[in-house]
Amino acid sequence: MTGVQTCALPICKAKTVRSASSGGAAPAGATTGATRSLTVTLKKSHKKTTSQQAWLSRQLNDPYVAAAKAQGWRSRAAFKLIELDDKFHLITKGSRVVDLGAAPGGWAQVAVQRGATKVVGVDLLPIDPVSGAEMIVGDFNDPEMPGILTEMLGGKADLVLSDMAPNTTGHAATDHLRIIALAELALEFAMEILTPGGAFVAKVFQGGTEKNMLVPMKRHFAVVRHAKPPASRKGSSEQYVVATGFKGRHA
Ligand code: SAM
Repeated sequence: MTGVQTCALPICKAKTVRSASSGGAAPAGATTGATRSLTVTLKKSHKKTTSQQAWLSRQLNDPYVAAAKAQGWRSRAAFKLIELDDKFHLITKGSRVVDLGAAPGGWAQVAVQRGATKVVGVDLLPIDPVSGAEMIVGDFNDPEMPGILTEMLGGKADLVLSDMAPNTTGHAATDHLRIIALAELALEFAMEILTPGGAFVAKVFQGGTEKNMLVPMKRHFAVVRHAKPPASRKGSSEQYVVATGFKGRHA
């Protein structure tokens, strides 16, 4: 932890926000730049598709992107976990955390900064080192992964996070099915490595099919809730399912 900053985002209003402490983090005391009074308008580019132009314009005008950069978070997604943790108190001091789909490392930074002592991230993509966390490149679905991660953690996990998203096809129904399939596999994975009382968080999309995973979740966890953190873009159907109080695989 390297410094205390203030910012004007909803997440920051009630409290001060500490800067991230990982390699490549912003210097202590950097200003957040969270409120941008200017709107950046892009010139038309013949090299970019309309959707690429729209993405770039959204990034340039997104206060969470600016705040993440200023505070040293690897991703704007870091704010989603901060908001979820503020609401559900998921990351406890000394806890063991697994971060599925960890690249570029924003959620792992948050877990470390909020007191987890063992944080292990997995991603298909390489991740620059995050201080206080260990990162491995691979598919979480590899049958050896639960054993590898349990060994790296030095025991079962208290919290399994999944912000995983498959590559999108552009076909909404297909993309929805793919993300739900990923979340269902993440749930299976979590139930293999969670300690009793542990918690699981996964990205899902509104649209109905995630209801299938709610049945096993409700059986194996004491409480299951849905949340859309303010940092999750309003126009997107992304939301998170948060399950706490793991009762064990054979509940
Ligand atoms: N929470 C991250 C952060 O704050 O930096 C952002 C995660 S990003 C939205 C989703 C990640 O899921 C991608 O980096 C992708 O490579 C990863 N992913 C998708 N399928 C995966 C799989 N089968 N195994 C591991 N990682 C996967």
